[in-house]
Amino acid sequence: MQSIRSVYKIGHGPSSSHTVGPYNAAKIFRKRHPEADAFRVTLYGSLAFTGAGHGTGKAILSGLPGAEILTDTKTGINDLPHPNTMLFEALEDGEVIDSVRVFSIGGGSIRFENEPDEEETEVYPETNLAEVLDVCREEKLTLAEWICRREGEGFREYLATVWQAMKEEVERGISAEGILPGGLNVRRKAKILYEKRCYNESADVTMNRVIAAYAYAASEENADENIVVTAPTCGSCGVIPAVFYYMEKDRGFPEEEILDALAVAGMVGNVIRTNASISGAECGCQAEIGSACSMAAAGLAALYKLNLGQIEYAAEIAMEHHLGLTCDPINGLVQIPCIERNAVAAMRAISAVNLSRFLYETRKISFDVVIDTMCQTGRDMNEKYRETSHGGLAQMYRAK
Ligand code: SF4
Repeated sequence: MQSIRSVYKIGHGPSSSHTVGPYNAAKIFRKRHPEADAFRVTLYGSLAFTGAGHGTGKAILSGLPGAEILTDTKTGINDLPHPNTMLFEALEDGEVIDSVRVFSIGGGSIRFENEPDEEETEVYPETNLAEVLDVCREEKLTLAEWICRREGEGFREYLATVWQAMKEEVERGISAEGILPGGLNVRRKAKILYEKRCYNESADVTMNRVIAAYAYAASEENADENIVVTAPTCGSCGVIPAVFYYMEKDRGFPEEEILDALAVAGMVGNVIRTNASISGAECGCQAEIGSACSMAAAGLAALYKLNLGQIEYAAEIAMEHHLGLTCDPINGLVQIPCIERNAVAAMRAISAVNLSRFLYETRKISFDVVIDTMCQTGRDMNEKYRETSHGGLAQMYRAK
């Protein structure tokens, strides 16, 4: 497995695979062709179907100013090498001098066809969570201690930078007001939720309301195309910051322990992206929100100093009950159902940890089995439900 550093990336919303990845690809392609006098980029698959709502064209133009952007909406995503495919062409005097297909593989990562993966450095010979946990048990280390040793120099500083960016997205979002861009007329709700205390509100209701408000805050920042951290994607960026921000600000956990929790959550995300996918276009929303919930649950279990079996079980429960979750964003915008879904997943992560505390010894399903199941379910999912806005809520909303 590669470094956890490729799980958390700081960049502009609203979609890691539709904005961060295409922007990075555009920058690289431009650098490769200083001699070109024009560029053309054709979007295929999910990028063609939902690129307008996700702001893909704008992201490409920031990396490749003046490029001509075409969309191919005739090719189905099952007929492509990857559901998020782009064809980059460099031109000189009207003639194509070079072209390459680039795949936006999720979480802002990209792969140039027939070229080695830019982030290929392997840090972990272990291939799944069971192997990782076995090594921690053998070496008598907590998961966070073991990860930090393996990741080496600069890793804590990297985590601190990521955590600072996450806190900033929550803090900006919690005080912002107004309507989100894109034409759906979706109002920002984080501030309302944060300030709207019910009469006689119990401690449990307060906790859920505040965590939900933090998740709305980060997700609304993403929908507004501001800077967020992929966790593991932009669309699912609200879950982890919501849970961990609550634990630091409202429960008083020290930052050093939050960084440990981020490392544990990152390992869970790393295992998922290695053995399945974190891309909605590949496996539906179970791969995005399900992964974020699973990561948050594992990190929270570590923060509570639960044992390795409980950490694994929390991550397993959190993913298992997102299996089959489709990706059907209305008008291709990362707003409905995405923003609310982040809030619900943040609350579910806490429930998963509560169950894992008491029941982990009775479990029958391992984390790795549930990830294989998520992958298979995603591959079986009709393409309508994989970030095309052709099915589900997106279709019903259009029909009405
Ligand atoms: S529905 Fe889920 S996977 Fe699809 S864009 Fe929204 S958050 Fe991402």
